[in-house]
Amino acid sequence: MSKENHFETQAIRTQMERSQYLEHSTPLHLTSSFVFEDAEDMRASFSEEKERNIYSRFTNPNTSEFVDKICKLEGAEAGYAYATGMSAVFSTFAALLNAGDHVVSCRSVFGSTHSLFTKFLPKWNIETSYFKVNEVDNIESLIQSNTKILYAETPTNPAVDILDLELLGNIAKKHNLLLIIDNCFATPYLQNPIKFGADLVIHSATKLIDGQGRVLGGVTVGKANLIREVYLFSRNTGPALSPFNAWVLSKSLETLSVRVDRHCENALKVAEFLESHKNVQLVKYPFLKSHPQYDIAKKQMKKGGNIVAFEIKGGIEAGRQFLNKLQLLLLSANLGDTRSIATHPASTTHSKLSEVDRLEVGITDGLVRVSVGLEHTDDIISDLKQALG
Ligand SMILES: *Cc1c(COP(=O)(O)O)cnc(C)c1O
Repeated sequence: MSKENHFETQAIRTQMERSQYLEHSTPLHLTSSFVFEDAEDMRASFSEEKERNIYSRFTNPNTSEFVDKICKLEGAEAGYAYATGMSAVFSTFAALLNAGDHVVSCRSVFGSTHSLFTKFLPKWNIETSYFKVNEVDNIESLIQSNTKILYAETPTNPAVDILDLELLGNIAKKHNLLLIIDNCFATPYLQNPIKFGADLVIHSATKLIDGQGRVLGGVTVGKANLIREVYLFSRNTGPALSPFNAWVLSKSLETLSVRVDRHCENALKVAEFLESHKNVQLVKYPFLKSHPQYDIAKKQMKKGGNIVAFEIKGGIEAGRQFLNKLQLLLLSANLGDTRSIATHPASTTHSKLSEVDRLEVGITDGLVRVSVGLEHTDDIISDLKQALG
């Protein structure tokens, strides 16, 4: 398969070698280990003179197919696939950081990533300094002599803010930092951070990549020399993706572009509807002209994604009532599913934070996050309308 093929073609036609059965669709290699022809084959395999499968904690044909696809879709050299998005985040940091290193990150990161920075990395004397989404001018002032990694997610969760990847890429280059981007909300279809200077890209494949709420998975891709470190750490510590989940996720990638196209189309309609509703104060969707970082979103994203955030008039109580009235939209911690989902962070996922801490990440009392699914938009909008009414 040539490098020049389009996204859709790569997502479908990147496939492991056919077996002697000449199967059309990729088979599932549900095996924990692989056999050797003789002692010499085994020796050469373990010394990495041969590139071949040894044990599924290291590599497996299904996980390799999934990784190869993500590499092609992200423009990356190499990668490693994980059981979850969080194991990808943790293993990547653990592989690349030494005791005493320092991280600069955007404050608006996934909740468990925030816990990693504030509760667990400090055990190894690794500290993190945060910048806020609207204070990117401060980033350089946070960099210290021991800073090694610059980290961010864009669009952010749950406030759907946008960070300028080109700007982050330039800062990382100037200060010789590794730029690592969690590209989960955009998927490789909408945004390729490597083009803007990212060294590594992380995905939770649990979200839009699976897209149907079935399996957990994660992946880290990027520069081959860095992935080598990440791979050696991971093959010894054991966070590998199961071959079954890899098979599901590789199949899911075949339809990623058509699913995400429709997700984005639906989300834009939902955002436009919400913007016109009298009980809605503010709508945040990257491809709405009213989004504060609309121009940056247009520069780095193909479409706006499937997450819409809005501010319901009436604060916490109005948010809670809105959730209770929903009939079609589900209350769930997942996102990027075929089924539309609504959350009200101030009364649920972020209720333990103080109001000041919530506002730091853009969570106002009335903020509602909708993961727009693939149901008919008339049905999604009519449910939102009756719940807002
Ligand atoms: C869900 C998510 C993760 C963690 O992924 P899991 O597969 O749930 O471990 C990391 N980053 C972002 C942005 C996410 O949305």
